[in-house]
Amino acid sequence: MRGNLVKYFILTLLLSTSAWAQTGDFNSITIFSDSGIRGPAYTEQVNQMQTLSADHEWIQYIHYGNSIADRPLAAMQLQDLAVTPTSLTVITGAIHGNEYLAIADQLVPHWADAQTPSVQAYLASGGVVLVVPILNPDGYAERRRANRNRKDLNRDWPTPGNTLSEPTQPENLALFNYIKAFTNVHNISVNVAVDYHCCGSGMLLLPWGYQRGQYMEPDAQHESDIVEQMFRSSFERYGRIGTPPDLLYSAVGTTLDYWHAEYGAVSFTYEGNYGTEKENLPSHLSWFDKIFNRLTLEP
Ligand SMILES: [Zn+2]
Repeated sequence: MRGNLVKYFILTLLLSTSAWAQTGDFNSITIFSDSGIRGPAYTEQVNQMQTLSADHEWIQYIHYGNSIADRPLAAMQLQDLAVTPTSLTVITGAIHGNEYLAIADQLVPHWADAQTPSVQAYLASGGVVLVVPILNPDGYAERRRANRNRKDLNRDWPTPGNTLSEPTQPENLALFNYIKAFTNVHNISVNVAVDYHCCGSGMLLLPWGYQRGQYMEPDAQHESDIVEQMFRSSFERYGRIGTPPDLLYSAVGTTLDYWHAEYGAVSFTYEGNYGTEKENLPSHLSWFDKIFNRLTLEP
């Protein structure tokens, strides 16, 4: 009897874990989802960023705040310091701490090794790339979606559908303030933003997410379509493409809507494949090649 109970418990656990893993990111009911990919310790993530910065003058290590558990909020800023900034691209990962994909933290090491021409040309034209591989380090270190306050950081940004004037959580507020200050000082905008999540079989989400039936204005939709075509031509296989309400359900206060609402950015959320997304790194690199080439020509 006891053995059967144990077996039943394990079976239930396995079934529910697998159900959780398949659950889309925007499910407001599900608290737990997981990418099936474990990353290095957060201290190693920070060390890697600092080493890259020490070895390359066009990579700055940015310590823009601290998490609730006092972990450094860390980013890499790719920039030619001799050139006046003209545009900003923002790439973020693990705002949901347990959705690490081994993509957002692998882009800069690759660009550093390969001296990627598209990146170097973009930087030479005044382009700046801010990469935040782990936006929610406490959640990442503790394998949890939310931050230490048990708040979902991807429902905390000032967007249509809420009355926030700034994020309520320290991890978000520090990034919000850093980017506001940087864009104000240089009188530039966020042109492109990509936020990495898991898991949705390579699903690409675009604004608006806050309410069903809301779509971008035609000019913005046109720009978004161009970057979407670049995505289609970079990936052999991908999932569905559309707004969160059309593909999943609405979600208020996301980075997806914030970058677009605040800066008019071409903004995407990418929902990676469970357990295997890291194999798509070449496709992500190819997508950014095309994005940077376009931004270099038409910032
Ligand atoms: Zn997510």
